[in-house]
Amino acid sequence: MQYSAWFQCINEECRQKYPTNSIVYKCRTCGSLLEVQHDIEALRGRDSKAWMKLFEERYKSTQWPYGSGVWGKKEWILPQLSDDNIVSLYEGGSNLFWAERFGKMLGLSNLWVKLCGNSHSGSFKDLGMTVLVSNVKQMISEGAPIKAVACASTGDTSAALAVYCAAAGIQSIVLLPKGKISVAQLVQPIANGALVLSLDTDFDGCMKVVREITEDETIYLANSMNSIRIEGQKTVGIEVIQQFDWDCPDVFIIPGGNLGNVTALGNGLLMMHDLGLISRLPRIVVAQAQNANPLYRSYLKNFESFEPMVARKTLANAIQIGNPVSIEKAIRTLKLFKGIVLDATEEELADAAALGDTTGMFNCPHTGVALAALIKLLKSGQIDKSEHVVVISTAHGLKFTDFKVKYHEETLDFPSRFANKPIELPPRVDAVKEALETALKKRRTTLNA
Ligand SMILES: *Cc1c(COP(=O)(O)O)cnc(C)c1O
Ligand SMILES: [Zn+2]
Repeated sequence: MQYSAWFQCINEECRQKYPTNSIVYKCRTCGSLLEVQHDIEALRGRDSKAWMKLFEERYKSTQWPYGSGVWGKKEWILPQLSDDNIVSLYEGGSNLFWAERFGKMLGLSNLWVKLCGNSHSGSFKDLGMTVLVSNVKQMISEGAPIKAVACASTGDTSAALAVYCAAAGIQSIVLLPKGKISVAQLVQPIANGALVLSLDTDFDGCMKVVREITEDETIYLANSMNSIRIEGQKTVGIEVIQQFDWDCPDVFIIPGGNLGNVTALGNGLLMMHDLGLISRLPRIVVAQAQNANPLYRSYLKNFESFEPMVARKTLANAIQIGNPVSIEKAIRTLKLFKGIVLDATEEELADAAALGDTTGMFNCPHTGVALAALIKLLKSGQIDKSEHVVVISTAHGLKFTDFKVKYHEETLDFPSRFANKPIELPPRVDAVKEALETALKKRRTTLNA
């Protein structure tokens, strides 16, 4: 059976198609965003049980490139790609763990966290970037005039782009908002040989510039306006369900900025539904930082209107986005998945991340936003305590050590409820013993509280 995928305009009145090896980011006829469509009839040629079996056989195997969580599902991602052009760093296959203690604190017995940050560059962006860079490699091999691949980034996209381009031997260019990303996020593209351009603006400002420089076909655009990344990112929900032996959870909670990831999550689940691997759709919750909450504001108006905003500074810097590229797609997704949108203040996201850490997590601030949303939804009764809930953790906490250090040093703009400060002592046994006695007593009372 011959499987195929193509770009298609999302505008219902246009629906123009383009091959996946063409350099196109928006519809040339009407200017709308594109999305990748698959020949679903061809995919139906294999029944749901056979797809499950194939995915299970490949999952985390050493059968290159099919052991990758993304390429193990190649037929659903980018079937025409030649295996020789796949640039894979064994992405996907990340840990999905039962957050037993944190769940119990909230009265929830079936809470799970999908650790997408346990990945090559430390965030879920790897899932999409492997597909984008592989597609670029294929286009170059076919003679496309691409000299470099560029993106504007709040940190994690550039880290993923730089590392996949380095693995492929393709030049990357990253435009970063000066002083707005963490040291770890800045050092990744530097180490991986990207041309790093630090601009005195915010993410939305960098985005404007990169859109213009990529009008020239020799510089290929890697931002999520380019819908090819969605194809890799959509494996996240599919993989979670595979990890639950094909049982679909009740709720997914995901932090959202540019809103590509929620669209991807939804697309993967819809494909599973279309092909009979799941029989019902879960609910999707998008969590935003209050300082960058344009989707939440639109949700409050039943998505009847949308107003971009100037995003204010947030600790969750990867979602500090006021004018999300994938807004239309995300709203479409939320309408299909009984969607809920919530926001979290800086204090709420930081406390939720820290509280989670005390139960054995190591949360990035974006995951903190998702956990804060979960806490609110349980309080308001919008999520029932009996439900099976999955939180998508988007990056590794070690990328955000400055945030954690400041929280525990209590130097943020608000009180840190769960700060854990080192106790400074003279190097004497009696002083240490005395300090331990008091501290352990205090710890026991808080642990039992
Ligand atoms: C990119 C990113 C997000 C937001 O994803 P969108 O697709 O832009 O909504 C959330 N968390 C982290 C850590 C990210 O890197
Ligand atoms: Zn169009």
